[in-house]
Amino acid sequence: MESAAHVALISSPGMGHLFPALEFATRLSTRHRLTVTVFIVPSRSSSAENKVIAAAQAAGLFTVVELPPADMSDVTESSVVGRLAITMRRHVPILRSAVSAMTSPPSVLIADIFSIESFAVADEFDMKKYAFVASNAWFLAVMVYAQVWDREIVGQYVDQKEPLQIPGCESVRPCDVIDPLLDRTEQQYFEILKLGMGIASSDGVLVNTWDELQDRTLASLNDRNLLGKISPPVYSIGPIVRQPGSKKGGSSELFNWLSKQPSESVIYVSFGSGGTLSFEQMTEVAHGLEMSRQRFVWVVRAPKVRSDGAFFTTGDESEEQSLAKFLPEGFLERTSEVGFVVSMWADQTAVLGSPAVGGFFSHSGWNSALESITNGVPMVVWPLYAEQRMNATMLTEEIGVGVRSKELPTNALIEREEIAAMVRKIMVEEDDEGKAIRAKAKELQRSAAKALGEGGSSHHNFARVVKLFGC
Ligand code: UDP
Ligand code: UDP
Repeated sequence: MESAAHVALISSPGMGHLFPALEFATRLSTRHRLTVTVFIVPSRSSSAENKVIAAAQAAGLFTVVELPPADMSDVTESSVVGRLAITMRRHVPILRSAVSAMTSPPSVLIADIFSIESFAVADEFDMKKYAFVASNAWFLAVMVYAQVWDREIVGQYVDQKEPLQIPGCESVRPCDVIDPLLDRTEQQYFEILKLGMGIASSDGVLVNTWDELQDRTLASLNDRNLLGKISPPVYSIGPIVRQPGSKKGGSSELFNWLSKQPSESVIYVSFGSGGTLSFEQMTEVAHGLEMSRQRFVWVVRAPKVRSDGAFFTTGDESEEQSLAKFLPEGFLERTSEVGFVVSMWADQTAVLGSPAVGGFFSHSGWNSALESITNGVPMVVWPLYAEQRMNATMLTEEIGVGVRSKELPTNALIEREEIAAMVRKIMVEEDDEGKAIRAKAKELQRSAAKALGEGGSSHHNFARVVKLFGC
């Protein structure tokens, strides 16, 4: 059935952007029967991403258009965020050509946060323009309010004596400020300001959270006397999480192993599509896992340091290396009964959905956090980059669904004893705090399911948004 509205989405590179965009598109096309086109700007180097794109094309639920590469040969900017913003800026004319070549052009353009400048194309073709924020409402509040901080705050944010205020929201501790805003002289700082203002110019913002999880922040964003002064209407439509891949059901060695472990006895350790640890920190994590005496699945990546000091990998399997040389001597042998070490990548939503998994040791990327919560799995949170320190603070101090180390893992080496204690806290429920965290994870799992179900808040908001699209 051809529906009235044709909705286009544009996604920037990176698994953390691509997965939620594809999942969102799936919902628009299957549940709301919209005609959907997804424009993708792939990271050319990632074979993992290429597989995901090929699978979306093969599924045939919507049209997937891979935009040709933009010339970046003259770009000297080295930050991830700066490069992403420039990449997406250079794709605006490419998107324009793609849209003008379509026989029935879309009437709505939904852009992820790095693609906001493509709203220029929406204006030219008279399309409605929505921002899709694959993170949470507190992060969105920072993006929208950063222009005010920029005007009112003197000096670097990280040097402020007091937390940074946002009307109607939790304030942000200077040490939690998102990475690209840390140095106000860098290009990535200006890019984020610009993207934030672009979000504010949209017809509406769709955010991957749900009302009951972030009621105060969402209320402020929609209140004309608070953040709503500068923000367009915000609709929480989540949690949108990826469905497990085809390996679910035990066809692989990992899922075979998981199927034999006792219920909620395994902690899953993974740092997202890009996060890695230093060699020294990997050693402590390995010993910490052993000391915790808990079963584990660990997605191990080679330690790697970028020129600016951040640990970074592309998540590409071609980088797969012999794991043993990064792990303490004898670790693999000693833990062969209780642990399962995976190289580079695991089907995370399937792992978290396994009844054997009872905890997630995570970098607290928002997709990972939602995947944990929707499976009722408590977390050890280990923020590494982007907005993950804010996520970690919210998950542990506000929502109470995880524990974290006393020092930030990016500032200090976290030692094995502390790692073992955090793992035991969420896995073994040795104290009231651990029990409360586990109970909260189950409570949020129910809350998320309710929000998405018939009559739930996100279900309702999704229907409102589809109406706004003109269907
Ligand atoms: N992911 C996965 N297997 C891995 C690592 C990551 O399936 O080994 C998926 C994960 O399920 C999530 C996404 O990649 O959907 C990562 O997004 P997130 O926002 O957690 O972090 P980012 O990678 O953007 O830092
Ligand atoms: N990324 C990475 N290592 C880093 C920082 C970022 O691999 O140290 C990757 C990340 O996984 C994502 C992309 O670069 O695929 C963009 O990261 P960003 O910091 O914008 O945040 P995201 O929204 O993906 O969490």
